[in-house]
Amino acid sequence: MTTKRQTRKDNGTCASSGSYINTGNGSTFMPIDIGHPEYIALIEPDTAFWSLVKHEKLSSVLTEGKLFKAYKKKAGVFTEEMDMLRFGLKPSAVYFNPTEKCNLDCPYCYIPQKMRHDGEHMSEKRLIKALGLLKDYFKRTLPKDTLPQIIFHGAEPMLNRDAVFAGIEQYSEDFRFGIQTNATLLDDSAVDFLKSQNVSIGISLDASDAAISDRTRINWDGQGVHTKVIEAMERLRGYNGWSVICTITNKNMRHLTKLVNFLHQKEVPTCLMNIVRCTLPSSLEVKPNDANAFKYFMAALERTYELYLETGRKLPVGNFANILLAIIAPTARRLMCDISPCGGGRCFFALTPNGDLFPCSEFIGLSQFKGGNLFKDSVEKVLTSRPFSRVTDRKVEDVEPCSRCAIRHFCGSPCPAEACEMNGGMEQTGAFCEFYEEQVRYAFRLIADDKHEAFLWDGWGDDTKKTFTMDLF
Ligand code: SF4
Ligand code: SF4
Repeated sequence: MTTKRQTRKDNGTCASSGSYINTGNGSTFMPIDIGHPEYIALIEPDTAFWSLVKHEKLSSVLTEGKLFKAYKKKAGVFTEEMDMLRFGLKPSAVYFNPTEKCNLDCPYCYIPQKMRHDGEHMSEKRLIKALGLLKDYFKRTLPKDTLPQIIFHGAEPMLNRDAVFAGIEQYSEDFRFGIQTNATLLDDSAVDFLKSQNVSIGISLDASDAAISDRTRINWDGQGVHTKVIEAMERLRGYNGWSVICTITNKNMRHLTKLVNFLHQKEVPTCLMNIVRCTLPSSLEVKPNDANAFKYFMAALERTYELYLETGRKLPVGNFANILLAIIAPTARRLMCDISPCGGGRCFFALTPNGDLFPCSEFIGLSQFKGGNLFKDSVEKVLTSRPFSRVTDRKVEDVEPCSRCAIRHFCGSPCPAEACEMNGGMEQTGAFCEFYEEQVRYAFRLIADDKHEAFLWDGWGDDTKKTFTMDLF
């Protein structure tokens, strides 16, 4: 595989000794304003290596060479680590859609409306067969001690509850299971079953107030479902394996801080606050402006910090925690939208009720991205199919202006589905840029102020090792 970094390595035909930064064979370091009164960031974009430097020390750091010499010694390790993350991972998870149907009609859903309204369930027999085929595939590809993950996803998986629960029971030793649900069908017995099987449960909630939440989370009659979701949250209280996913739109962004208060009070262990994906045109109606969305998102993050100081209890916002990890411990990242190529078709793939395979759920409904069918084709063959490689070959280096952006490996230039469907091609950017830029700048400010631990999951570093540390001042 050819990466841009390979063209950057010392070139035998070039007479430069690489002694100076930013010229000849020297490393490329870009100073980035992170909006901090004392520090700026110096970033080597290809390896995502960085250092925080005091404003008044920048000139001496750039000319003394201590940092760059130390970096050069380790550059090979950083390059290998980044290459492994970007090109060396194998799928270990499947987003498994056991039904095309949904009982809700949210405007930003990436599954076409007709499919959600008139679609089919996967039969219990086929679901069991599909899990068996996936088990066989993962046996062939993953190390023995790695348990693959199946996340039942939507549409609304709980509409096909009997088949899903039968699959979880039958394969409880073979997979780590999760379910992403709108929570309207999570009654007592469903919650008891999922808890007893240690299933991770993600539920969707866009605001703490019904008046806001019901703007986007509505059934086919236009009625909001807020009350039902709150009832389900009460059933989940005390369980470690649940989380709330909020989609940030122009309908709820002003209320994110209130949502943080609410989630913390309900003892939600962790949440995601994802900016709306704009793969289908209907999402554009609720697409927020980047700068406004970030202003409210940052206020919500700040509120998690205040609550942590007041109570000692964290509320990690998973997608932001992932950006922090991308900076301080790249191999500890858990989500895969902020690395390029993204995780779609590379670290996971999506399965539809008729067995069709797509690189990511975002592509379901876009037939040109169907790579094959689980019941007819080998997964290995599907992963190398043209529809999959269109996604897995999309590199940030091929996208403008991302190719020259210093934070490209903290952002990843998401999302290929948006780039293709909203902006006309894989070499285009996705729906947002400034939102990601500002997140990275904010993450660096937190690191500069040594506040970042409060935004991360406890135990995030258990499987990581320190590869570089240096005191410049
Ligand atoms: S960036 Fe888009 S296609 Fe890639 S994993 Fe994220 S949602 Fe899926
Ligand atoms: S989307 Fe924006 S922040 Fe992200 S890599 Fe591209 S230019 Fe940089």
